[in-house]
Amino acid sequence: MSSHHETADIAIIGAGAAGLMAAYWAAKTNPRLRVVALDGATKLGAKILVSGGGRCNVTHDEVDETAFAGSTRPAIRKVLRRFDVAQTTDFFSEMGVELKREENGKLFPVTDQARTVLDGLLRAVDSVGVRVWHPRRVEQITREDELFVIRGSWGDLPARRVILATGGKSLPKSGSDGAGYGFAQALGHTLTPRITPSLVPLMLPKAHPLTALSGISAVVRIGLYDGQGKQIVSFEESLLCTHFGLSGPATLDISRYVLAARADDPSAALRVNWLPDIVPDQADAALVAAGKTSPLRWVAGRLPERLTRSLCVEAGVDPVAPLSNLTRPQRQALARTLTAYVLPITGDRGYTYAEVTAGGVPLSELDLKTMESRVCAGLHLCGEICDVDGQIGGYNFQWAWASGYVAGSSAASV
Ligand SMILES: Cc1cc2nc3c(=O)[nH]c(=O)nc-3n(C[C@H](O)[C@H](O)[C@H](O)COP(=O)(O)OP(=O)(O)OC[C@H]3O[C@@H](n4cnc5c(N)ncnc54)[C@H](O)[C@@H]3O)c2cc1C
Repeated sequence: MSSHHETADIAIIGAGAAGLMAAYWAAKTNPRLRVVALDGATKLGAKILVSGGGRCNVTHDEVDETAFAGSTRPAIRKVLRRFDVAQTTDFFSEMGVELKREENGKLFPVTDQARTVLDGLLRAVDSVGVRVWHPRRVEQITREDELFVIRGSWGDLPARRVILATGGKSLPKSGSDGAGYGFAQALGHTLTPRITPSLVPLMLPKAHPLTALSGISAVVRIGLYDGQGKQIVSFEESLLCTHFGLSGPATLDISRYVLAARADDPSAALRVNWLPDIVPDQADAALVAAGKTSPLRWVAGRLPERLTRSLCVEAGVDPVAPLSNLTRPQRQALARTLTAYVLPITGDRGYTYAEVTAGGVPLSELDLKTMESRVCAGLHLCGEICDVDGQIGGYNFQWAWASGYVAGSSAASV
């Protein structure tokens, strides 16, 4: 196997969203540097290509730290502020990628094709002379005197600085299998005690009534409650029933909190209010006030009929009989089912179906002005390997762009 004897000034491990951004800004900031990006994948950018349903939700028109979890909000904010949405839009525009805003604030390429975004990034790194080597899977990174040595079955590469941008564990077949966590640890970092899938569909027991409603969705209020009934977090978004359980933005956004709660507090419960404009406490009174109308009519227009029928069956109530005929216990059961429906989650669909990873290298171990490691001089980190995960809506990419910008431009200016 050949060995590369030339030393890289900056070696970027992982040429995904964060790595390509870091590589561009490193070479752009100091064109004299030899910037090399290594990626294990045969085809670059697999994750960008599948993102946003193949359209790549590049960012969101309003990004701040409240759309993220992990580390601390002030720490996340510090990095996000260095490269905001306007800078992201300008960067892509310069690379010939125009973005459009959709109603919910998500930004997509005007072509509706993720390929446009990947091509823009590849043009960007090419325009500033970054060498992208792939497939070059990295197996080990060691520190030898003043240099890092990056090794793989292809040989080795000495580098003065390393930017670790290997991503998390989501979609492992794309090449992001968590190997980077081992490199970070070997170079002195710790990891958060828990690393779990985030933005992941959740499972219900086999034959749960909702699994018979595959494809049906509704805008609901989904909330996670601790053993004392106190709300931990909630989202008002679309919930999608599937053959295995639940998906859709409401499920994905709350999933990382559900996984954390299940580990810490088995009494935590996930509940759905199918009629988010009615407070559960007032649901019984609302049903009384509804008079002679049937449940199906009363809910009409707010929930798909099949879903309403199924919820009535679960509550033990006839969907077409007058509400005023219900006994008090029946009415209360219906009120509970409609507004405080407990979801008996049995697990999650794992990294293969997760969009992102919760947990990783704590931001407290980095100097956030440069994304340089506090424990290993010359090492920078960016992207999903960090303990930061965003909600659905383009936030995870914005974290990749911003942290990649900070890591790349800083690594090139020392
Ligand atoms: C199905 C899906 C849809 C998504 N949709 C969106 C969306 O629309 N909007 C949004 O904001 N976010 C979305 N995300 C999340 C987003 O894709 C990630 O947050 C983002 O890609 C993380 O960027 P990264 O560069 O840190 O990691 P990655 O994109 O995972 O890139 C890491 C790179 O490192 C390489 N690598 C890993 N280990 C090694 C090694 N040992 N040697 C060499 N190379 C290595 C990998 O091959 C990979 O190319 C989606 C994710 C998935 C899975």
